[in-house]
Amino acid sequence: MDLLDTLTAKGLRGEVPTREEALAVLATTDDELLDVVAAAGKVRRRWFGRRVKLNYLVNLKSGLCPEDCSYCSQRLGSKAEILKYTWLKPEQAADAARAGVAGGAKRVCLVASGRGPTDRDIDRVTDTMAAIKDADPAVEICVCLGLLSDNQAERLKAAGADAYNHNLNTSENTYGSITKTHTYADRVDTVQKAHGAGLSACSGLIAGMGESDEDLVDVVFALRELGSDSVPVNFLIPFEGTPLAKEWNLTPQRCLRILAMVRFVNPDTEVRIAGGREVHLRSMQPLGLHIANSIFLGDYLTSEGQAGQTDLDMIKDAGFEVEGAGEATLPRHRADIAEAVAASGCGTTASSCGTAASSSGTAASACGSGGGCGPCGGHAHTPAEATTAEGTEAAVPQDDELRSDLVKVRRRGAGTELAPNA
Ligand code: SF4
Repeated sequence: MDLLDTLTAKGLRGEVPTREEALAVLATTDDELLDVVAAAGKVRRRWFGRRVKLNYLVNLKSGLCPEDCSYCSQRLGSKAEILKYTWLKPEQAADAARAGVAGGAKRVCLVASGRGPTDRDIDRVTDTMAAIKDADPAVEICVCLGLLSDNQAERLKAAGADAYNHNLNTSENTYGSITKTHTYADRVDTVQKAHGAGLSACSGLIAGMGESDEDLVDVVFALRELGSDSVPVNFLIPFEGTPLAKEWNLTPQRCLRILAMVRFVNPDTEVRIAGGREVHLRSMQPLGLHIANSIFLGDYLTSEGQAGQTDLDMIKDAGFEVEGAGEATLPRHRADIAEAVAASGCGTTASSCGTAASSSGTAASACGSGGGCGPCGGHAHTPAEATTAEGTEAAVPQDDELRSDLVKVRRRGAGTELAPNA
């Protein structure tokens, strides 16, 4: 059986491929691309039908971060001319959230820059969540505040948070080259704290930082092990004024191969196309919907996306539908695990706390995972180091493919007087 037949069969059973198979997806050629998308699409439709979950970002506190994540426009020393403001008032954040929900978003993602929240910050977010849920109790709220201290996840859960985001971003081996002020282990710990408190874990990666195929596969398998319910796939937005401003390592084809690999390793998990969708997939975005079952509506934390209505038109034109508030995102067996975790307070890695049986009795991991700051961009080694699994040089964009013209700093929505894009 050839690679794609094997991956499809495994994905339909909810089975995880081998590491070698995941690497082989990244090594496929452009001639094979539509076959790769079709194979991943079968797996996507098996578990998620033609639904697209919409998520809406509200940046509660922008810029001024003491951490040094190389990919981030909000980092210490960033010269990126982004919006900078401190905590939005609860009613300001609720107004922005309402715009996203009115535009079709099922989940609101409340994000604040910084190493991690103080207990006073947890109070602020508690008030903000109350303001949002007062207006619409059905809205899902995911919180992203950085590294959590003991009991903060429990406080967020008690205050009504549904999920916590903290991305692993890249492999353990390369984490130290993108950030010096905290470690990969810190990030894993926060994911586990969130999961242990019964919050759904949202944790993903950033591609395009000069990482190798092995790095990408490492982080995606690590996310599977942690039991992330939602895996945001960010494509580095190389902001001028950050250390990674010149890192243009992605093509639309490469992005689709990465998404397909993430889907095969996480057949029954929410896979979200996150920051960098418009910048790197460009006119190929609709093909991404055949692989991922979730996107952000409208703008990102510090950059502008395409118009919210354009997102909605794209979904409809591609033959998909926006997931409704009353519809479950995860397949039943995964939702059962999430509920069991919430009830038990189990927050360890997947291997230690049970498996999820698919309809054919195969296993998917359950516990753990985390978040961190969301779709602000990303990087690691030099582009010249990027290699495929076969050791051949990956396609690197030519000068005319450097699309810094597509990077638009956010100037509307939260923290401004202008209406949000939703
Ligand atoms: S990713 Fe988060 S912690 Fe890192 S610099 Fe950006 S805002 Fe700060």
